[in-house]
Amino acid sequence: MLLRTGRYLVSTLQTRNASNVSFIGLGQMGNRMVKNLTSKGQEVKVFDILPAALNSAANLKGAKLCNSAEEAAKDSNIVITMLPTGDIVKETLLAENGILKGIPKKSLFIDCSTIEPKMAQELSKISKENNIRYIDAPVSGGVTGAEAGTLTFMIGGDPNDMKEAEPVLNKMGGKIFHCGNIGAGQIAKLCNNLILGITMIGTCEAMNLGIKLGLDPKLLTNIINVSTGRSWSSDTYNPVPGVMPNVPSSKGYEGGFSVPLIAKDLGLAEAAALSCGTPLLLGALTHQIYRALILNGYGDKDFAVVYEFLKGQNK
Ligand code: NAD
Repeated sequence: MLLRTGRYLVSTLQTRNASNVSFIGLGQMGNRMVKNLTSKGQEVKVFDILPAALNSAANLKGAKLCNSAEEAAKDSNIVITMLPTGDIVKETLLAENGILKGIPKKSLFIDCSTIEPKMAQELSKISKENNIRYIDAPVSGGVTGAEAGTLTFMIGGDPNDMKEAEPVLNKMGGKIFHCGNIGAGQIAKLCNNLILGITMIGTCEAMNLGIKLGLDPKLLTNIINVSTGRSWSSDTYNPVPGVMPNVPSSKGYEGGFSVPLIAKDLGLAEAAALSCGTPLLLGALTHQIYRALILNGYGDKDFAVVYEFLKGQNK
C-alpha cells in the first residue's frame, strides 16, 4: 500500500541516494565539507591525489579512504567533486582510473568546484554521453562556511536532479538556489566572487589607511561593521591579523582561499564578460592585483594577504 504513494517512493529514493555518496578533493573546502557530511550520519567514500589531504579524513567515522576516483565512485549514486580548476575536474572524470570508470549508470555527478560555465556545459555533455547526470553546484561561504556547514549552493541543471541532491547538500549548507540551466550556477558564483575580490581589496586599503593614521584596528572594524563600509571581508573574514580569531589573517594567512584561486575566479569572470561585451573595470584591476601578488611571493597565502602587501615590509 505504502509503495503506491508518491511520497514513500520519493523518500525511499532519497534514503538510497544519501547512503551512497563519494567525495573527491579534500582540500581547504572539501575536507571541511566531508566533516559535516560524516558528522551528520552520511557515509562517504573519499579520494584526494595528495596523501596528506586524503589522510585528513582518516579519523572521520563514516569516511572510507579510497585509492582512486574510480574506486570512490564505484557503487555511488552521488559523486561530488571539489577540485581547483575545470581542467582538473575534466581530467578526474576522464582519467584511466577516473570517475567514469567507476560511477554506475544514471548516477548524479555534482561538481562543487568553481569553474568556467562553458566547461560545466562540456562536463554535462560528457556525462550525458556516458549515461550519468550532472549539475554544477559551486559554493560560497569560504572555509568558515564550509566548517560551520552553512555554505550557499548555486545550482545549474535539471531541477529534479537538484531535488535529489538536496538531502546531501543540506548537510553542508542550507541555502540552495536553482540558477537555471547547466553553467548558470557557475555564472552566479563568478558574479559573487567578482564582488568578493573587489571588496576584499577595498577593505584592506581602508584598514591599512586607518591603522597607518593611528586608529585601533578592532575599533575601526567595529565601526565599519555597523556602517556602510561593512562586507563579508570586514565582518566575517577580516584581513588584519588579530582582529578576529580563527580566520586565515590571524593564522599567518595559512589555509583559507588561496591567492591563485581568487585570481582564477577573476580571470573566469573576465573571460565571461568578454564573451558578452560587458565591461569589468574594477574586476580587471582586481584580477591583475592578485596576479601581481602571486609573482611577489604570496601565491601560497590566503587572499586576505593583500593587507600585508599594502602595508609593506616591516612597517
Ligand atoms: P584546495 O587547493 O585547497 O583543494 C583542492 C584539492 O583537490 C587538493 O587537496 C588537491 O590535492 C585535490 N586535487 C587536485 N587534483 C586532484 C585530482 N586529479 N584528483 C583528486 N584530487 C585532486 O582548494 P579549495 O580551496 O578547497 O577549493 C576547491 C574549489 O572550491 C576551487 O574551485 C575553489 O575556487 C572553490 N572554492 C574555494 C573556496 C575557499 O574559500 N577556499 C570557497 C568557495 C569555493
